[in-house]
Amino acid sequence: MNENKAIVWFRQDLRLHDNEALVDAIAQNQFIVPVYIFDPRVFIQLENLNIPKTDSFRAKFIIESVTALRNALLEFNVNLIVRVGNPEEEIFKIARRLKTKWVYCNRERTQEEVLVQDRLEVALWSIGQEMRYSRGKMLFYTQDLPFPITHTPDTFRQFYKEVGRFVDIRKPLPVPKEIPSYEHYIDLGEIPSLIDLNLENTVETNCKEEFCFKGGEEEGLKRLDMFVERFSKLKSCSFFSPWLSQGCLSPKTVYFAIQESENKDEIIQHLMVRDFFRLMGKKHLNSIFIKGGITQNFNKSFSQNTDILNDWINGKTEEPIVNAYMNQLKSTGHISLLGRKITSHFLVNTLNVDWRMGAAYFESILIDYDPCSNWVNWNEIAGLTIDARHYCSTNYIQLHKNQDPENLFLKKWISEYSVI
Ligand SMILES: Cc1cc2nc3c(=O)[nH]c(=O)nc-3n(C[C@H](O)[C@H](O)[C@H](O)COP(=O)(O)OP(=O)(O)OC[C@H]3O[C@@H](n4cnc5c(N)ncnc54)[C@H](O)[C@@H]3O)c2cc1C
Repeated sequence: MNENKAIVWFRQDLRLHDNEALVDAIAQNQFIVPVYIFDPRVFIQLENLNIPKTDSFRAKFIIESVTALRNALLEFNVNLIVRVGNPEEEIFKIARRLKTKWVYCNRERTQEEVLVQDRLEVALWSIGQEMRYSRGKMLFYTQDLPFPITHTPDTFRQFYKEVGRFVDIRKPLPVPKEIPSYEHYIDLGEIPSLIDLNLENTVETNCKEEFCFKGGEEEGLKRLDMFVERFSKLKSCSFFSPWLSQGCLSPKTVYFAIQESENKDEIIQHLMVRDFFRLMGKKHLNSIFIKGGITQNFNKSFSQNTDILNDWINGKTEEPIVNAYMNQLKSTGHISLLGRKITSHFLVNTLNVDWRMGAAYFESILIDYDPCSNWVNWNEIAGLTIDARHYCSTNYIQLHKNQDPENLFLKKWISEYSVI
């Protein structure tokens, strides 16, 4: 009889639906032990910029998502073990103590995340255990693509041409009917608060009529239902990104749920952009984080002036629209795609500040931060991707003005305008 025990390490896949690591672990083992680790290195203070690597908006969203996951697992009579510490040490200790055989997780692809999973793998080898990797971040499976990852086209237009209509999306996996667990008497651990993570406890969950950025699978699925039932005719943007980034929603689930929606083509295209950027991260590895970016162009010189950067962060530039978006970002942890393009473009191409400083600020503040989506978008804005020229020519500020002729947005986010 199969008596294997396995740890399922939840990372940016905080859901029970369409969770390949969980389904694989259940299929191949008699008992599973779910674990989530809050890695303090993700919440450190970035001394050079004087900001936390993960600010309170996203930290709160993660805390809510892990709490929701713990509750969802309890419905199956399964306990989620939570730790604050380095995953390669904390998971190792649990694996050694419980004499599990495998650690299952969805494989991450960017440098910091890969380093952690590699260290854990090596530690596990010392006690005769191993990692088992699954997939779950993308709409497409890389093995279904008509090219190897290293030959992914470098422009979205070409990627879309080769993949768009030709590659089928696989059906999402259902929530498991049962999750086999056992009583192990190991301390379950507390979910930390923002204060435990050395962050300010002042953020409110950002709720408006059309969205409420509360973390967790149930909230993500609620948002998906609401979009399909009420908003898909009115809105071209879905506000799914925070749940997609923490894996509370699977992109495949979104894809099949929105099939009847009026603007499904636009959302699906955006999900494909997301996959494309992840593939750019896989293809170009650490280049997406370095000065020369994907094109390795080190000829451009940027300023590293933190006064100019701070004026941008605090909405004190000479461009009111940039200031309004930056104020919205600071107050909510979220701005639209157009807002991101306007503000990033302004920092890099008007203020001439090092694009990596802007990307680091977005990494800190965004509630929906995702390594590839953020850093590859910044590469593009800084003109460091193959098709970047196309994007630089657009006048994003004019686009905003056309959409808001009465300056309602400025009035909302800049106090001087609210009295005019
Ligand atoms: C400088 C810059 C930084 C960005 N950083 C991030 C980030 O850290 N995390 C993030 O999720 N998105 C990032 N984006 C992309 C985009 O702004 C957001 O995904 C989008 O605004 C989310 O809103 P939505 O959910 O309503 O998107 P929708 O338009 O409804 O699109 C559906 C989904 O597709 C994905 N998506 C849409 N546009 C993009 C895009 N351009 N790049 C990658 N994915 C996309 C998102 O997951 C989104 O939820 C960035 C864009 C720029 C210009």
